[in-house]
Amino acid sequence: MGLLSLGTPLDWHESRKHNEHVRKNGIIQLINIFKQHSESRTDDKFLWGDEVEYMLVDVNPNAKTARLSIDKDYILNDLNDPKKSLHKSEENNISFHPEYGRFMLEGTPASPYDGTCLKDYAYVEQNMILRRKVSESELPAHIKPLTLTAFPRMGCPNFTSPPAQPIGPASQSLFLPDEIINRHVRFPTLTANIRKRRGAKVAINLPMYPDINTKLIDDSIPKDRDLFLSDKEPWLGASKPGHVYMDSMGFGMGSSCLQITMQAKDINEARYLYDSLAPITPIMLSLSAASPIFKGYLVNQDVRWNVVSGAVDDRTFIERDVEPYTGYDLFGGMHVDKRQRLPNNTQYVNEFGDWCDLKTKDGKPIQKVPKSRYDSIDNYLNDHKYSTAYFKDEYNDIYAPLNEKVYHHLSKENPKLFDKYLANHFAHLFIRDPLVLFSERINQDNATENDHFENIQSTNWQTLRFKPPALYPEGTDLSKTPGWRVEFRPMEIQLTDFENAAYSCFLSLLSKAIIRFKPNFYIPISKIEKNMKLAHNVDSVLEEKFWFKSLDQWNLNHREFIGYDLSWFDRFLNKGNDELGFDEVYVNGYSLNGALVNGESEDDLAALNGSLNGNGHPNGFYRGRRRTIDAVNDIDDQGIDERYTVNEIINGNDKFPGLIRLIVKVIATDLLPTGSHHCENKELAKNLTRIKNYLVLISNRASGKIPTTAHWMREYVLNSPLYKRDSKVSEALNYALVEKTIDITDFKDKELLTAFFGETLTQYLTSN
Ligand code: ADP
Ligand code: MG
Ligand code: MG
Ligand code: MG
Repeated sequence: MGLLSLGTPLDWHESRKHNEHVRKNGIIQLINIFKQHSESRTDDKFLWGDEVEYMLVDVNPNAKTARLSIDKDYILNDLNDPKKSLHKSEENNISFHPEYGRFMLEGTPASPYDGTCLKDYAYVEQNMILRRKVSESELPAHIKPLTLTAFPRMGCPNFTSPPAQPIGPASQSLFLPDEIINRHVRFPTLTANIRKRRGAKVAINLPMYPDINTKLIDDSIPKDRDLFLSDKEPWLGASKPGHVYMDSMGFGMGSSCLQITMQAKDINEARYLYDSLAPITPIMLSLSAASPIFKGYLVNQDVRWNVVSGAVDDRTFIERDVEPYTGYDLFGGMHVDKRQRLPNNTQYVNEFGDWCDLKTKDGKPIQKVPKSRYDSIDNYLNDHKYSTAYFKDEYNDIYAPLNEKVYHHLSKENPKLFDKYLANHFAHLFIRDPLVLFSERINQDNATENDHFENIQSTNWQTLRFKPPALYPEGTDLSKTPGWRVEFRPMEIQLTDFENAAYSCFLSLLSKAIIRFKPNFYIPISKIEKNMKLAHNVDSVLEEKFWFKSLDQWNLNHREFIGYDLSWFDRFLNKGNDELGFDEVYVNGYSLNGALVNGESEDDLAALNGSLNGNGHPNGFYRGRRRTIDAVNDIDDQGIDERYTVNEIINGNDKFPGLIRLIVKVIATDLLPTGSHHCENKELAKNLTRIKNYLVLISNRASGKIPTTAHWMREYVLNSPLYKRDSKVSEALNYALVEKTIDITDFKDKELLTAFFGETLTQYLTSN
């Protein structure tokens, strides 16, 4: 969560008068941050942490209902109250934070993990288990903290417990009551201010999953409500035929995700890590897909990302470059002289993205803004000051408007601290207005406070966040404070602590491997953009091919990664035989091309080496259901980027390592106790086995051997006797589905677990 100031939040029409003040002082604060930390921090440790978001669900087996619980949010206060349950958090090294929804809870480790220490990677899951246990201990037995990405029936009649009416003034939603919003004044104000700035309610339209009885019309939209002027918006063009229509911030910000933050050694390493992770963002969105149902409808996509993006989209009509609804203002709630109009024949935007001479009353140019403030990143940061220096200007190839004033302030006045790429990055974030301002916090001491900077920074919700350190009073020992960090934000939350730990470890270990082996992952950012769209598609993990740096252009020698596939764990753990004999053949029979995987079944073998069988797919879980994808990889003009299956990118092939081999090698070379050649230490063996199984999960999902959460959920609905083939998820079906997700979360039902995790993992999970 970003800052949570106490005080009196200003209504949009008051707050907007301070937009330039916040930006101006925010930039001064940013410059002070850079002055304090850019050069002084040179060797921070690789620390990292995760954030897990929970939904409190009231499960009633008698009534067969599962509803979002909106009156148990007191547990968040209790878990932070020294007189109540704070001790439980402290004793367990966990920390709970507020989130957008009153039904939500965010849990993190209280102190970050040590990324140089193998056992911390295995501890992550323990920490997650404790978070769930502690929050459960504060709740009645029928309220479960679940890690569902999107609550299937959010926005349907009676989806809350206790029931509440969707008649709230903050969101004016036709579907979501204001009672779902966190009680802290920041959140309803945020909701209302987004709507007021935009000049209309947000409008999200997701394509319905077309089934034989589906009526391609969202019949849940009330036709005759006359409570707010905005009630007519669906009939003015906000709702699209064939789509599920959603009209409120809560549909997006009320979903849950998994975020990972890593600390780099210095600012330059952080820039390289940020850039290297950018092409990974859509791949991990696709691999973590977990949300095929919204507002009681099966939809024709698998992830939440565009829902959140639309849910906080505060851009006005003119910024989006669309016609306003009839009777609505082109400028929305911007502070403008309403006599200004777009000239008819000179509709141009300049190099910064500014519309002609149009300005708000405080002199800020009005711009054409192609993306919501919640969206994928628009610019690389450039690694030219790092040892890699792979970046080329042509990689920043999408139109991303800039705040010209901020750009010049940073790059002209402080070129030493802000090269043009950093200036570009922050000038792009600073095209946005602050959304919530507290009257008590308007005036700040720019030498020691950084709330104005954070105000803009933390409401740019992008796939990655470049997190500079905070400002500290002179004399502070900076080595004990957080440094330059990169946050990875696209992943959907998974049902079990095991999976969330697996995705967290995969990402942090991958980051460690990136820093260690320094691959070149740069592709034009426009291709990442395309990948983000592909990642939304149903079963994209198997159905789509994603743009990625050609596998032979990573600037890595694949031969150096031979042997570091998943079989490395077995060789290291069981045989004490991790050395190459003659002809680069391992003594236990593992050979150069990775053809033999010790300890894996035939099935696993097929999955893990799936890329060897032609189209990059093994004959896994989806056999017979997939449409065929092109056997030949698309390639760009220069052969620098190609399109690959997620399987190829994750599991590699005989010519190229794949991300998992990078991870295995970093474990083998950097994380083992020095001098260990084989594993005699029981704790080390146990931890390595756990980590291996995390990688097996990711590997098997990438290869299609086991389903994504989204695939499993969709199949569950499609095969349920309660489903009427009309794309609708009734209250009874929602209950049945939630019940199954609880069984998975609690590892209860072996048959179910086998369908979800496959045999090998289920065997491991139920016996460990
Ligand atoms: P936000 O919501 O703004 O992303 P949170 O405080 O909720 O911030 O989460 C921050 C995450 O960063 C947590 O997982 C925490 O463990 C982790 N973290 C804290 N300090 C560091 C650090 N120095 N380096 C890396 N990660 C850190
Ligand atoms: Mg959060
Ligand atoms: Mg957080
Ligand atoms: Mg975060």
